[in-house]
Amino acid sequence: MDIEQFRKADYQAIDRICDYYYSLQERSVISTVEPGYLRKHIPLSPPGEGEDFQVIADDYQKYIMPGLTHWQHPSFFAYFPTACTFEGILGDLYASSTANPGFNWSSSPACTELEAIVMDWAGDLLGLSSAFSNQAGVGGGVLQTTASDSALVVVVAARALYMRDHPDAKLEDLVMYTTTQTHSLGSKAALVLGLQVRSIEVKLDHGFALREDALRDALESDAKIGRKPFILIATVGSTSSGAIDNLADIRKVAEDYPSLWVHVDAAWAGVALSCPEYRCELYLDDINSFAHSFCTNFHKWGLVNFDCSALWVRDRKNLTNALDITPIFLRTKHGDAGTVIDYRNWHLGLGRRFRSLKLWFVLRGFGVAGFQQYIRQCIALNQKFANLVDASDELSLVTKPSLALTVFRIVPKLQEENQPSLSLDSLNDLNRVFFGRLSARHDIMLTQTSLNGIFCVRLAVGAARTNEGHIQEAYNIIIEEAKFAVQTWEQ
Ligand code: PLP
Repeated sequence: MDIEQFRKADYQAIDRICDYYYSLQERSVISTVEPGYLRKHIPLSPPGEGEDFQVIADDYQKYIMPGLTHWQHPSFFAYFPTACTFEGILGDLYASSTANPGFNWSSSPACTELEAIVMDWAGDLLGLSSAFSNQAGVGGGVLQTTASDSALVVVVAARALYMRDHPDAKLEDLVMYTTTQTHSLGSKAALVLGLQVRSIEVKLDHGFALREDALRDALESDAKIGRKPFILIATVGSTSSGAIDNLADIRKVAEDYPSLWVHVDAAWAGVALSCPEYRCELYLDDINSFAHSFCTNFHKWGLVNFDCSALWVRDRKNLTNALDITPIFLRTKHGDAGTVIDYRNWHLGLGRRFRSLKLWFVLRGFGVAGFQQYIRQCIALNQKFANLVDASDELSLVTKPSLALTVFRIVPKLQEENQPSLSLDSLNDLNRVFFGRLSARHDIMLTQTSLNGIFCVRLAVGAARTNEGHIQEAYNIIIEEAKFAVQTWEQ
């Protein structure tokens, strides 16, 4: 393809993308294809000769599009939606057009410099203290692919720091702490690094938050048998229920364990710190005063298309001490002089995408006020849904709604006063039937979870085009399916 052919193909691609967004609401949220569908349409080997791009572009529409789940659909309420914006899409387009794997400052100065600046902007947006700033302190921010990668990098850094300070410790004695509600990124990091992980039980009565006693008990009992607590992954906004670990409690305990690195995984909820009214409930003061590292994904609820996971550390040397390997071919004048950031030493890979461009476009396109407005709107929409659930005769909230997430299930109000209430197992079975009916539909997408044995359904607001009408429509569908499930259950 030459430049003029690219111009033509690109105009067409943009036209088709616009048409896609115009038609989004009329599409099924969920793809209806069967496993293996694509093999019927795509040859077993690549073409011998290059093909006309128009044919390729048409095949994308014909064969790929039907196999896509539409995460940007306004009735997509599953997992945590990934709000994507045109500003972000354009950032990715420009970034891929110059294809800079900006691993060193010198390999493409703008990539490094923009990332350092935009991470400071993002920290400012969220109210992070200047301790985490690339400009002001010894901390710094870096864009990673995912929160899982961010956690892995942090665990590597925490392990290196612990071993530096305790050279006689045995690696097999090191323990990472999570809770039963921590995202699997904790266990994944432990698995990859061959470390022990202790998952602390958290209770429904405490909103599934980690509290002082449970943490202290775990650390004390482990220390007594010679284990070495070296990192805790605390969560602000857990995946299943949006639980927020009590960082004030954790801070108290951490004062007695100065070698314990506390990483705050706020992959989903962290962007809500942009709104000052949520900073207290999300423990911003504690994050600022003692957390060693903090991560939030702009690619989840932060209007930036995947991937864009923001990680801040209080001391960037902890990352570079753990991850800097500099063969001769990567040495540069500025790197040797220590006058620039070389981001390759802040993550696992060498090459890295120019992700800061899309974050810069989004933050400029929305401004702080626009970003806050979107977050507040999602929370208000979720509150509307939670109120409808709360007022219904069939449904109940399992936990207090958390920001833009509601976790609920069917708990039928029994018709007869003296009718025995359903056991947990029966309720779970009823709710599985209910969720089975919801997930067989194509016009809405939700996810299931289990909270200490309670089977529940999650609705997360976040797709950029969801409005009140979609929430009402979602509730109408959900209540219709709930009534049907209850009626068939009773017969
Ligand atoms: N942490 C939390 C609280 C999450 O909810 C999720 C995903 O939903 C993750 C981490 C994982 O994010 P990533 O896919 O960026 O690794």
